[in-house]
Amino acid sequence: MDRIRNYIDGKLVEPVSGQYLDNVDPSTGKVYSHTPDSDERDVEAAVEAAAGAFPEWSRTPVAERSRVLLRIADLIEANLDELALAECVDNGKPLSLAKSLDIPRAAVNFRFFATAIVHARSEMHATDDVAINYTLRQPIGVAGIISPWNLPLYVFSWKVAPALCCGNTVVAKPSEVTPMTAFLLSKLCQEAGLPPGVLNIVHGLGRKAGAAIVAHPRIPAISFTGGTVTGAEITGVASPMFKKVSLELGGKNPNIIFADADQDKAILESLRSSFANQGQVCLCGSRMFVERPLYDSFVERFVEETKKLRIGDPLEKATNQGAIVSRSHHEKIMRYIDLAKEEGGKLLCGGSAPKATNDRCKDGFFIEPTVMTELAVDCRVNREEIFGPVVSITPFESEDEVLRYANSTDYGLSASVWTSDVGRAHRVARDLAAGTVWVNCWLLRDLRVPFGGVKNSGVGREGGDEALRFFTEPKNVCIRVPSS
Ligand code: NDP
Repeated sequence: MDRIRNYIDGKLVEPVSGQYLDNVDPSTGKVYSHTPDSDERDVEAAVEAAAGAFPEWSRTPVAERSRVLLRIADLIEANLDELALAECVDNGKPLSLAKSLDIPRAAVNFRFFATAIVHARSEMHATDDVAINYTLRQPIGVAGIISPWNLPLYVFSWKVAPALCCGNTVVAKPSEVTPMTAFLLSKLCQEAGLPPGVLNIVHGLGRKAGAAIVAHPRIPAISFTGGTVTGAEITGVASPMFKKVSLELGGKNPNIIFADADQDKAILESLRSSFANQGQVCLCGSRMFVERPLYDSFVERFVEETKKLRIGDPLEKATNQGAIVSRSHHEKIMRYIDLAKEEGGKLLCGGSAPKATNDRCKDGFFIEPTVMTELAVDCRVNREEIFGPVVSITPFESEDEVLRYANSTDYGLSASVWTSDVGRAHRVARDLAAGTVWVNCWLLRDLRVPFGGVKNSGVGREGGDEALRFFTEPKNVCIRVPSS
């Protein structure tokens, strides 16, 4: 059985404790590899290596840093099949999705930041005729990166690439639930010639290895993507230490469909935004609001299309709904489906956990795509993040009403709006409490735009210049211009 190892100082090493955790394939329910159960001793070794590598990496010419990151991008593409299979087995997502989206996007992330840094600019401010100020953007040192299980290599690379291109060294912990692609990445980094200690990957539990990264005094910046509760815990530790923190957290995103929308497109994209990756994307639209004149026909057609989604073995080509990532997450989602019924929800389709999709997957963690109506806008199911294939649909009568509904949760990550009225699109986008608003689309990403949430969905922004800003410290140099 495969044994994942930590990547510290350029070497693949065992955890100091010699202890390993089971790594389960959610589509079969069986252990298929072992992950290091790292603790603060492994984190210490990783920080030591990263701090040792920092002086040289931070002074390595930008063009050379860029070349190494581009080599990593090339190697990810060259190893697409192996990485996609690893992600599918680790996470339960359809192999076709890992192959067409997650892994290619990881390569794009490395390539994007490898080239962005070559074009990065800094500012200059002239103070009348008296002085010239220029801003140096210097790497921070050792960056701490902690990432979740839903988009394992995609989110990991989204943070690691900007940190490295800016000249930082990194100590990173992927989710212990999906560690395999980060492990394979460490081998690709060796092959690409990334100098030892520049990237260090410590596998293990959040409460042990993750907490040790957050609390480490030699790590001045933490970039975290994960749940809101964990984000609050991290802030509690990092803030009194005056660390720079970026938090990308949960969402309960509204998907608003006005009666003048292109119904076919809205239905197709809403299927994707509701059930992509089994609803386990932070940007999924789990609360759908449909304007009253369209409501009945929309709901009928949406349910019809949902029933056509094929749930099953993620390795099979025809599957578009794979397994839920873990037994505990599966149980959590099923509890929310029960709660929805208790809260008065009407189940239009799904709601159960199919026992077998084929013999290989008979013990896997599957849930049918589930559509509910008649839930109160302020009930728990409509307020709390479920992070699964569960969608609630509510009718609305006016723009004001739907804005009130949409903005009524503690989250504010993203929103989608479907309308053919341009003026309304701008008005509603302006008034939605969300970090990203998609109009007549969903998850259309441009890596240059700021990405992040408001309210309990996070603090700070990632993407493009925002990421380069986060991973550097601005220093102003003020030079007096002597008068003649
Ligand atoms: P968690 O918050 O449980 O975990 C995220 C990471 O943090 C994991 O690596 C985890 O390790 C680690 N961790 C857990 N506790 C601590 C701690 N006390 N100190 C340091 N690290 C810790 O999130 P999930 O992995 O369950 O991911 C799903 C969540 O991520 C959802 O809420 C989703 O909305 C959010 N998300 C947000 C995105 C965004 O861009 N806003 C994008 C993708 C997901 P371990 O795995 O061992 O628990």
